[in-house]
This record gives sequence, C-alpha cells and structure tokens, in this order.
Amino acid sequence: MSDTPRPEGSLDPQAWETFRASAHSALDTMIDHLAGLRDKPVWQAPPAETRARFQSPLPQAGESFDDVLDTFRADILPYGSGNTHPMFMGWVQGAGTPVGMVADMLAAGINANCGGRDHIALDVERQIVLWMAELFGFPKDSTGLFLTGSSQANFCALIVARRHALGATTRRDGLVNAPQLVAYTSSEAHSCIVQAMELSGIGSAHLRLVPVDSGRAMRVGVLAEMIARDRVAGLTPFLVVGTAGTVNTGAIDDLSGIADLCAAQKLWFHVDGALGALAALSPEVAPSLRGLERADSIAFDFHKWTHVPYDAGFLLVRDPQAHKAAFANPAAYLQREPEGLAAGETWPVDLGPDLSRSFRALKAWFTFKVHGAAGLGGVIAQTCGLAQQLATQIEASDDFVLAAPVRLNIVCFRPAGRNADLVRDIVMDLHTSGTAAPSMTQLDGAPVIRAAILNHRTTADDIQTFLTEVRASMGRVEMRHRVEP
Ligand SMILES: *Cc1c(COP(=O)(O)O)cnc(C)c1O
Repeated sequence: MSDTPRPEGSLDPQAWETFRASAHSALDTMIDHLAGLRDKPVWQAPPAETRARFQSPLPQAGESFDDVLDTFRADILPYGSGNTHPMFMGWVQGAGTPVGMVADMLAAGINANCGGRDHIALDVERQIVLWMAELFGFPKDSTGLFLTGSSQANFCALIVARRHALGATTRRDGLVNAPQLVAYTSSEAHSCIVQAMELSGIGSAHLRLVPVDSGRAMRVGVLAEMIARDRVAGLTPFLVVGTAGTVNTGAIDDLSGIADLCAAQKLWFHVDGALGALAALSPEVAPSLRGLERADSIAFDFHKWTHVPYDAGFLLVRDPQAHKAAFANPAAYLQREPEGLAAGETWPVDLGPDLSRSFRALKAWFTFKVHGAAGLGGVIAQTCGLAQQLATQIEASDDFVLAAPVRLNIVCFRPAGRNADLVRDIVMDLHTSGTAAPSMTQLDGAPVIRAAILNHRTTADDIQTFLTEVRASMGRVEMRHRVEP
C-alpha cells in the first residue's frame, strides 16, 4: 500500500507503515497478555505512583503512539479487575474472548453509528435479534436491541410496560392523573429493578418484593395474594419481573407459574435474565428456564455467560408495536425516506433511549459465528458442572458448609462453626494475595463467601486449587485473629 502523506490537520498517522508496526505490536501485547493470564495474579492494586500518573494535567502536545502504548503496558494492563483470569469468581462477570477482542477493534475501525439509517451494521444487529427470538421461542417479528447492560435493559422493559399499561398520553402527561401502577419482583431480585422503578417516576414504594422459598425463588402463591390485595386497595398492578438466575445465588423463579398468573391477570411479564437467560444455549441447563418463552420481554447480558467483551446488554420484546410505542419519536432529523441512507422502517433509536450507539452487535455476531451456540452452551454447562463439583466438595468437608442450594453456577458457603466475621477477612486476604477472587454477599443477614463460576478458562483443577487457597487463607486469618484479637 502506498504511504500517502496525510492531509493537513488530519488525525490519521503521518506514516501508515509506522502505524501498522505499532498497531501490530499492540495486538501482540494483548495476545501475549491473554495467553499468559494464568501465570499472573488474579488482581493487584495499582501502586500509589501509578495512580498518581493519572492525576496529570491535560496534555497539550501529543506524544508518539509507541510511547503511549508503552505507558499502557506499564500502567494500565497489569492492573485490571481480574475478570479475565481463571481464578476470578467474584462477581457475575464475563471473561471476554480473544475473538471478541478483535471484533471490537474491527467495530471501532468501521465506527458505525448504530442509532439508525440504512447500513449493514443494523442488519447485523437484526440478525442477533432473530437469533435470540429463535433461541427463546419468541415470534420472528420480535424487536430487540443492544444496550449497555441489563440494568438499562430492565429499565427500558419497565418503560415499555408502563407505556403499555397507561397508553399514549403518559408520554406527554407523565404520571399525573394516571392510575397508581404497582410492580412485583422477588426479594432476591437485582437492585436495578428498584432503581428502574425510581427512575421511571413510579417510585420504589410501588414495587412489591415478593418473599422467596427455601430455593430463593419467588413464592408465586404469595405474589397472587399481593396482586389481589392491591386491586382491592384500588391500585393498578401492571408488571411482574421474574428472575432467571439471581445475582446472589443463581436461583430461578417459577417462570411458568408467573406466566400463568400474568396471563390470567393481564400483567406484563418481564424476565431479568441478565445472568441466566442465555443458559437456554445449553440443552442440559435449558429445561430449568421453562416458561421463559412466554415472557413479554427479556433482559440479558451477552457480556456475562457468553463472554462477549463489555458492554453488551440486550432487551428482547415480544410485541414490536408495544416496544416502538414507548420510544419512537417523530423528530425531523430522524425522518425515514424510501431510499438512501435515511431508509429503513424500524431503527434502534425507535426502540430505546440512545441515539448514537456503537456497533456492539459485531462482537456478539463474531462470538456466535466462531464459537457457535453449541460452543457457548458448552461453556455454560461446564461452569455449572464446576459449581456442582465445588458444592459437592464443600458438602463433604467438615470445615465449610453450603449456604444456599446451587441451581446454576453460583456457590455460596461459609466456614463451619466459626465466627461469621472471618468471611470478610478471608475474601479480602484472597484478593490481596492475588491467588483467587471470590466475593462476599449476605444471605439471611449473615455474610457468605460467593463463588460465581462463569469463566470459560476455569478448570476442575482450578476449583481444587480454589478450595485449597480458601483453606490456606482461613488459616492465615485465624492466626491473625489469635495474635490481634
Ligand atoms: C448483572 C445483573 C444485572 C445487572 O446487569 P448489568 O449488565 O451489570 O447492568 C441485573 N440483574 C441480574 C440478575 C444480574 O446478574
């Protein structure tokens, strides 16, 4: 390729061949990093000097790309949050993939604005919508779109359900003179459901937290009683949010039971499937999601169990008219034309709050094309198997007890017959030692160690090592407690 000089003022490289060499070396850096993950600590805190380098004034003159790359290698790359590492089990976070990484670079190169207009990126996004409709047994004309994450997707679903319940005038009048809407979810639902109620203007006081059973799934009988009571009180129930894979323990609500109730009561049935919905990719795990195919809408994250690089949340809605009615607007600059760049009937901007949007669909498309539904489903089944392995070992041990049933891939446990305060110290000790990264949560008011096993890099040996490391850490922490009581 000819090395044409750049036009005055352009941000393109002065010499493409020099840039090419730097860019290739950047790619090599990342490939070496991913290939060598296992030999690095899961996590390490950035030293104070490193953090201080991010307090510098606005750079007036630029530096060379190579120099900035070197700074990235020294000051940024070693201090990630650990979720790419096989011993990371802390939170429900995906690990990314090498293919997804390259796809994201390709998307940045194309630099499509995916709010609308007529270009292939929107066909790629519609392809993902079609694939998801097929996977979840939704109609072919279902609508969907990428959003940052399930927090956003759950919020948007609530906005669709609110518009559906109150009609078109609510977009103009808000909630003034509207019937008092009430929504329902379980006490184990993610905090973003509460937040969505706050943001929607309906208010969290109008979200009922339905109690859960011993498996931490919503008690549908109690849900029915709550709905009946609210109707008697003159309120307007409109939405039930079921959870497929709770963030605490991976519990799955009785989605069929909720679907029956919502059908009988004419309520919008939304599923927060951030973690668990994509378990539909695994023939072994999919049966536990029965009823999901009857939802009005599903929120889920490609960036969790299918390891599409952040961020890649998604909302799927059964009724395209209901979906569009909540967001589409007639601004002149969003007008559609029969031909040219402004063609196309439904644009993502009609389906959500974002206008400018990145080409998130490309990294998801590459992930499904390269790994296949079977490959991704295999990872899901494998990590559930590892969670069962860990649970079995914990149950067979005399120093740990299981704190909740293991439905999917999350294992909550605590030291047997010891001070509950140990839990926090053990988890912190493991993080700072860099050996493993579980997290801590509260179940019934008591702290537990939580291992969320999502990572496609985690092996059966890693699970063995994890338990060994937790024991070693418990020893260190108990020693410390004895020395400084
Ligand atoms: C992760 C998660 C969320 C939030 O999703 P984000 O993508 O982090 O916004 C909501 N609900 C559940 C059950 C989750 O696991």
